[in-house]
Amino acid sequence: MNSTPKPRLRFAPSPTGHLHIGGARTALYNYLLARQTGGTFILRIEDTDLERSTPESIQAILNGMNWLKLKWDEGPFFQTKRFDLYQQHIDKLLKEGKVYPCFCTAEELDRKRKQAQSEKRKPMYDRTCFNLIKEEVRQKIDAGQPYCIRFKSPDSGETVVHDVIKGDVVVANKELDDLIIRRTDGSPTYNFTVVVDDVTMAITHVIRGDDHLNNTPRQIQLYEALGYPLPIFAHVPMILGSDRQRLSKRHGATSVIAYKEMGYLPDALLNYLARLGWSYKDQEEFTRPELIEKFSLKSCSVSAGVFNPEKLLWLNGVYIRKAKPDDLTTLIIPFLEKKGIQHIDKAVLLEGVKISQEKVKTLVEMAEMVDFFFMEVEPDEKLKVKFFTDETRPILKKIIDRLNALDPWAHDPIAAVFNHLVVETALGLGKIAQPVRVALTGRTVSAGVFEIIRILGKEKTLERIKKFV
Ligand code: GLU
Repeated sequence: MNSTPKPRLRFAPSPTGHLHIGGARTALYNYLLARQTGGTFILRIEDTDLERSTPESIQAILNGMNWLKLKWDEGPFFQTKRFDLYQQHIDKLLKEGKVYPCFCTAEELDRKRKQAQSEKRKPMYDRTCFNLIKEEVRQKIDAGQPYCIRFKSPDSGETVVHDVIKGDVVVANKELDDLIIRRTDGSPTYNFTVVVDDVTMAITHVIRGDDHLNNTPRQIQLYEALGYPLPIFAHVPMILGSDRQRLSKRHGATSVIAYKEMGYLPDALLNYLARLGWSYKDQEEFTRPELIEKFSLKSCSVSAGVFNPEKLLWLNGVYIRKAKPDDLTTLIIPFLEKKGIQHIDKAVLLEGVKISQEKVKTLVEMAEMVDFFFMEVEPDEKLKVKFFTDETRPILKKIIDRLNALDPWAHDPIAAVFNHLVVETALGLGKIAQPVRVALTGRTVSAGVFEIIRILGKEKTLERIKKFV
């Protein structure tokens, strides 16, 4: 029997107001490995920054995760509910003499930091309080002097991060000063809470952004001090904008939910994010089961990926074309409702979806392609002047008469009406069909006009054209 424990992975976002697409990719990689291995995917909200961790901010993360269907198996756990646990670990380390109280004031530390800088030395805590004798410590505590708790880090040797993606990252221990693990106000710090959480949640793989790689040696020292085995570390490179700066609002939308609102499909976004930092031969399109099967940390790239909005848009178009029309019909409804459309005939919508599916790249574009089925249209003045003229009106009249007489109301007979007129008038099909398109849709670009006429039905079609005759 195989007794190797199943992997336990976590996504541990700090609420910032939205789920960033970089965070979503981290979540995805953890999720994929958990699903691939039959392991567990845990969601932990690192909400110790009380100012930023508002209920809305937390909800934004959950909404993003839910929309992407990154289903977690345990949690969400909240760090603010785990303070007792952190304190227990601090007490243990205090008892073992591995951490110590530090009474240095912010002003003192600041003065020393500036001094170091002016002497071109790296500012490091000088261990003033580590060198206090027991009696002094007792007196200061009894006198009510505020203090933080510092971790006594090793003085010599080195700490090595064996990173699955980055390889071995070596740091000389003398480069790391004594980390504050509990602030003067009693709150524990990130590097400490993350270790206590990962240990107590039995996390086997820590996959996160490489902006945390600097923290990892300190965390490894804490694992060692607490006597816990190390997890596997994998630091995923950042996502950059086209100017190779870290992706930010300047480069476009960075929040997952913004992509939902712009009419992207969750699986298209996930597929894109998966490939941004990982590859499998030159394959671009992956279903979710394929991602689960093929993803591997070993094939993640070492260097940062550049976010390419055009490629994401292209991929979204691929997903829209592949989607089941029934599914798109459900997805498109909120976009139509946003335009104030209330009464939606689902059968008509399904037909509309089918004729526009090949032509659009987002659900927003699709909504533009089908909205006129459900609302009055009013082409703008410029279009009216251009398309409803003394030349086109007699032709539109003929179209009305002939469509009116049409039976059955089907694509081919409708097309025949227009094709006959082309022959009769010696005008191009565009000349004849375009005014009709504008009358029916209010726009100059749409799906095939014969299909639109068919779906719109005789009554509405004639009514809309008549308005301009
Ligand atoms: N809370 C950290 C962040 O949002 C992640 C910590 C971790 O994954 O270890 O950047």
